[in-house]
Amino acid sequence: MKCPICHTHSLNKVNLETGLSAHQCNQCFGHWVPSENYWEWLDRRQQQKQRHQPAPIRLNVGQSLLPVVDNSTANFCADCDRLMTKTRVGRGLNFYIDRCGYCHGVWLDQNEWENIQKMDLHYQIHYMFSSAWQHSVRHEAYAKRATPA
Ligand SMILES: [Zn+2]
Ligand SMILES: [Zn+2]
Repeated sequence: MKCPICHTHSLNKVNLETGLSAHQCNQCFGHWVPSENYWEWLDRRQQQKQRHQPAPIRLNVGQSLLPVVDNSTANFCADCDRLMTKTRVGRGLNFYIDRCGYCHGVWLDQNEWENIQKMDLHYQIHYMFSSAWQHSVRHEAYAKRATPA
């Protein structure tokens, strides 16, 4: 497995959340999240919710976002080497994440996962690539431009 940005075998296994393992590049510090890891984690969370265990309330949503240097290159999947597509996160986060359309793994540059988590959007990464999400992000950007400063 190669880092999509550095093109070196520099990915190490890390835990992003309890039950969610990913691979982090030890050069650029981005994260590679294989889709099966993500879905397993989401499924388990869904089962917990059905057992009436409420999700912890986060009081610090949106606070102290970390600096992001978004990659602007076309990148190839860490797992299957196919070209990935970019989608804009929106909801107050002005960067793009990359996803492989074949194996559905997701690449996040340094601090992107952390900021998505801070905005409490980390349970919705799979929706970010849907046309409904993208439509609302475009609408959000348009509304911002239309508002006089
Ligand atoms: Zn890297
Ligand atoms: Zn792939």
